[in-house]
Amino acid sequence: MIQRGLTSKRENSVSDTIGGIGQQLGYDPDALREKYRIERDRRIRPEGNAQYREIAGEFSSFGQDPYVEQPISRAPLTDEVEVAVIGGGFGGLLAGARLRDAGIADIRMIESGADFGGTWYWNRYPGAACDIEALIYLPLLEETGYIPLERYTRAPEIFEHSRRIGRHYRLYDNACFQTTVTGLDWDEAANRWIISTNRGDAMRARYVIMSNGPLNRPKLPGIPGIETFKGKTFHTSRWDYDYTGGNTTGGLSKLVDKRVGIIGTGATAVQCVPHLAASAKELFVFQRTPSAVNFRGDRPVDADWVRSLEPGWQRRRMDNFNILMSGGYQDEDLVSDGWTEAFRDLVNVAAKESAKGLTSHELGALAEQADFVTMEKIRGRIDTVISDSAAAEALKPWYRLFCKRPCFHDQYLDAFNRPNVHLVDTEGQGVEAISGNSVIVQGKAYEVDCLIFATGFEVGTGFTRRNGYDIHGRDGLAMTQAWADGARSLHGIMVNHFPNLFMLGSVQGGFTANYPHNLIEQATHVAYVIDQAGCRQAQHVEATRDAEDYWISKIIAKANRSVAFQEACTPGYYNNEGDLQSRNLQNTNYGGGSIEYFHILEKWRQTGDLRGVELK
Ligand code: NDP
Repeated sequence: MIQRGLTSKRENSVSDTIGGIGQQLGYDPDALREKYRIERDRRIRPEGNAQYREIAGEFSSFGQDPYVEQPISRAPLTDEVEVAVIGGGFGGLLAGARLRDAGIADIRMIESGADFGGTWYWNRYPGAACDIEALIYLPLLEETGYIPLERYTRAPEIFEHSRRIGRHYRLYDNACFQTTVTGLDWDEAANRWIISTNRGDAMRARYVIMSNGPLNRPKLPGIPGIETFKGKTFHTSRWDYDYTGGNTTGGLSKLVDKRVGIIGTGATAVQCVPHLAASAKELFVFQRTPSAVNFRGDRPVDADWVRSLEPGWQRRRMDNFNILMSGGYQDEDLVSDGWTEAFRDLVNVAAKESAKGLTSHELGALAEQADFVTMEKIRGRIDTVISDSAAAEALKPWYRLFCKRPCFHDQYLDAFNRPNVHLVDTEGQGVEAISGNSVIVQGKAYEVDCLIFATGFEVGTGFTRRNGYDIHGRDGLAMTQAWADGARSLHGIMVNHFPNLFMLGSVQGGFTANYPHNLIEQATHVAYVIDQAGCRQAQHVEATRDAEDYWISKIIAKANRSVAFQEACTPGYYNNEGDLQSRNLQNTNYGGGSIEYFHILEKWRQTGDLRGVELK
């Protein structure tokens, strides 16, 4: 436990002289740093990403779609479209919307789920919601005329908004649902992609846009004996309401006589644990690393106020949020919630008057101390909510705020005050084994009827494995081969040897806390390139090798900037499970931040010469 009142031991001179933050600390930064290191070290696993079990083979049932109401049956397709979009989540929908705006009529959406929604098609667990403000998270609100009901939108509303975008932009026309792509091959003679699917299709498309990630493949923990579990089990992204009863709002009435176990305490578990706690006879929460859970403060959206805003309000609000979250200055914080507050405290220390003239090392020290203050507040909140002091101690996160995804929730911590809820803290080691109906932690068996895996999604595994198919481009070159030494692209969007193919996502692309914002920028970019190719009567659009080399050098240069921060972090998917040595820097996102990334894309379009792209 960190001792308070040790300020005299402080060796960090920077903290004594700048910003007044040092005075606020009231504890020893060295001791705290050491505590973080100890907690990280005990969680590092030599297997890294290999610790997880793939949802395949004997585990493939974990990936099946429990939400299909009407399984479809249709003859294989061999027809041709102008643009095929793989993935019907926000990325695919935004690409479709921007293509429609550009006047492209012949679009086919291909989606493995039975409807649009992507993440929000799959994640229907009780309590599922988005903790980024709805007015900036739900894209195309002004275009579709929709005003969200609450500040933090719930999963059914997000799913319905996805469907709304689909209807508004006529993306249901010609769409193929319940269709999983199994291969993508470039037909050089015809200048067309051939898209193979699990339905025997061999569709053809002039252009293909891929937006099928990044959190699309659920993963299971590598717990010995996991395959032997005798009770009911499922992953949170495939919730079995037939078994639990209830719906996304809770009311899991069929759990009233059940002992339920949940493994994982990330952002998903934080949202569904309160509902399990309210319904299950007993709930065992198996924790490896606690999340940092801050106050959320949901409230209804004032629709009249939204209607009174000047057109273009959503774009301004998104930009305002993104600038503040990138450490930039804005006269006003329009969203003003836990996210922007955390950034104001952490990143924006550099913008303060007292920070003027400091070296980057000193600014880093200042940011670290601001982080200590924020995390102390988060840890302090636990003491005020949790009545059992041992549970309160176990729920405290000991790492810097952005080592893991911060969570915002107002009922999660309270759930541990219920007599039917048991926190089983594994002290960073994870569940030891599963046997019969028991989950074993430190030699003690916890018998459960139902075991739910809130263990997240594949992030650090290979690109083709996450897509579920390889891509063969010009000269039959496979993407696995082209990317054998790391990802190659221009802007994370176009790849040499893979003409007329566009990718949306974060591999060499952008990353923001408000993820749809990144997808909007990329979708706008792709629609521009396709439109330009049409205007210039090109059959073939492809990034050059030189352009890729240039972009890779930028990616690597910028990625190195965060290595020291990531190395000190507790393991997780943000830092390749703590294994930064084997992480390929080429596979990271653009480390210069989203503002810079969006600016690069915009400037490239404004220049208008399609630099680094070959048209034939
Ligand atoms: P995460 O990957 O964030 O969490 C997985 C959890 O499983 C972690 O707590 C992990 O522990 C635990 N775990 C893994 N292996 C074991 C083991 N062997 N024994 C015990 N515990 C284990 O997945 P989530 O589904 O929670 O979240 C995925 C992402 O989805 C989030 O990061 C976020 O980006 C997004 N999300 C966003 C929401 C929003 O509001 N916008 C809401 C929900 C999710 P450890 O930390 O030690 O690895």
